[in-house]
Amino acid sequence: MMKNSLSKSNYLDGLNCKKSLWLSLHKTELCKGDDFKDYRFEIGNKVGLLAREYFGKGFQPKSPYYEVENAFKETFEYINDGGKLIYEGVGFNKAEGIFALADILIKDNDSWELIEVKSSTGVKDYHVEDLSFQNHVFKSLGLNVTKLSVLHLNKNYQRGDQIDVNKLFLKSDVTKKVLHKGNIISLQISELIESLSVKNEPIVDIGSHCKECQFKEYCWKGLPKYNIFNVFSAKKAEEVHRNNNSIDIKELDIKDYPKGNKLVDVNSYLSGDIFVNKREIKKFLDTLIFPYYFLDFETFGPAIPIFKNSKPYENIPFQFSLHIQENENSEIKHVEYISKDKKDFRLEFAETLLKSIKKTGSVIVYNQSFEKNVISSLSDIFPAIKHDLLKINERMIDLLRPFRSRHLYSPKQNGSASIKAVLPTFTNESYDDLEIQGGMEVSINFEKYFLGELKKENETIFFNNALKYCELDTLAMYKLLKVLQTYV
Ligand code: SF4
Repeated sequence: MMKNSLSKSNYLDGLNCKKSLWLSLHKTELCKGDDFKDYRFEIGNKVGLLAREYFGKGFQPKSPYYEVENAFKETFEYINDGGKLIYEGVGFNKAEGIFALADILIKDNDSWELIEVKSSTGVKDYHVEDLSFQNHVFKSLGLNVTKLSVLHLNKNYQRGDQIDVNKLFLKSDVTKKVLHKGNIISLQISELIESLSVKNEPIVDIGSHCKECQFKEYCWKGLPKYNIFNVFSAKKAEEVHRNNNSIDIKELDIKDYPKGNKLVDVNSYLSGDIFVNKREIKKFLDTLIFPYYFLDFETFGPAIPIFKNSKPYENIPFQFSLHIQENENSEIKHVEYISKDKKDFRLEFAETLLKSIKKTGSVIVYNQSFEKNVISSLSDIFPAIKHDLLKINERMIDLLRPFRSRHLYSPKQNGSASIKAVLPTFTNESYDDLEIQGGMEVSINFEKYFLGELKKENETIFFNNALKYCELDTLAMYKLLKVLQTYV
C-alpha cells in the first residue's frame, strides 16, 4: 500500500470497514493470511491473459503496476500518442492520492471504455464499486470514459475441442450502475484517505461485515464462538446485536429467540443438553437397505474448462472413496479411486464407480445435492451409461438430513451440521490429524497437479493425503450411522 494513497482494493476494503483499511496500513502483522488467496490470484491472471485474445494485441506498460509513477507515465504517453487498446494501464492522481489499475482500456472514436476482467460467472456489487473507483481516477486525469463494463466468464459456455474466447466470455455493461453512484464516490474517497492518516485505530463495531475479514481473529478475540451470528441471518443478527448490545446467546432477550432448528440449537446451547428425536431417527434408519455404500467424491472445477463438453467451474470428479457394509454383521470394506493420468478421466471414473456399486442397496452420502449433481453431469456426457448412473442417484440417502433437521444435535456442534462438526462431537474421530483439512485444498492441488503446476516432489505426498482425506469422509459416515443407531 502506498502511504497516504488509496488503491481500488484499499477503497473496496475501506467501504466494507474503515478499521480493516486502517489495520492493513498500520498493523499489518495482525492480518491473518487467506489460504487460497494465491490460487485465486493465479486464476485471475489466467483469465486476464485469455481475455486479451478476446480483444487482440494491445499495449501494456513495461513498468510493473506497483511502480505506480512509471507505469502511469507510460500509460498516458501511449494515450497521448493516440493509442487505442491498453492492458493494465495505470491511472495516478497524485494530488488526490488515488491510483488504479485498469484491466482493459479501449478507445472508440474519442471516448474510452473501461473494462474490468473477472473470473466470476456474473457481475457482483463489488465489481460496480471497483469500476466506480477506476472511473473516478481516470476521469480525474482527463480521460473521456463513457462506458464501463465487466468481462466475466459465461457459465453456460460448453467447451469444444478448443476454447472459443468469444463464447467463453460475456461482457456486461454496468455504466448506468456506476453513474448512479454520482458524486458520492469523491466523498467516500476523501473520508477513507482521511481515516488512514488518523493516529488511533478507528472504533468500528463487529458485525456481519466481518465475515471474510482477515483481522477477524484480532477483533473477535475473547468473544463466544457460538453467538448470534451463528443463529440469525446477517441483517437480523445486526438488529439483535443492536437490541441486546451483545453477541452472546446468554444475553439474548427471550423475544428475540429464533424458531425451528435454530431454537433447538439455542436451547441446547443454554442447557448443555443433547437433543434427540428418536422417532425421526428411526424413520430415517428404516429407509436404509443393505448393502450400504458410503460414498464421497472429490472434484475440481477449473475456471477455464479443461475437458470437452465441460463448463466454467463445473465440478469434475477425479476421486471417490467407498466404504461398503454388506449386512448388519459384516465388517466394512474400502474401495477407492483417484485419477493420476493427465487425460480426460471422466469415463474411467464413471465406469469404476459403476463396477464398485452393485445393483441394490442404499448409497449413503453426506449432502446429496453435490454427489447427485456430479452423477447427473456425468450421465449427460455418457449416454451409454446414463441409465445406470442415474439409478445410483435414485438409491441415494442423505446422512446430512438427520443432523441438519436436528433429529440429533449437540451444543458442541456450534450450530453446524457439517460432517467436520458432527464427527468429533459424537465419535472419537476427527479431521484434526489430517494433513489436508478441506475439500478445497484437495481440489486446488489436484488442479495444479493436472496442469503440471504442482512440484514433482509434492505429488506423491498430495495423492497420499488426498486418499486419506476422502477415506475419512466415508468412514465418518459409517461411524455416524452407528451413532444414530444407538439412539433408537
Ligand atoms: S473484523 Fe470486522 S470490525 Fe474488525 S476490521 Fe474486520 S471488518 Fe472491521
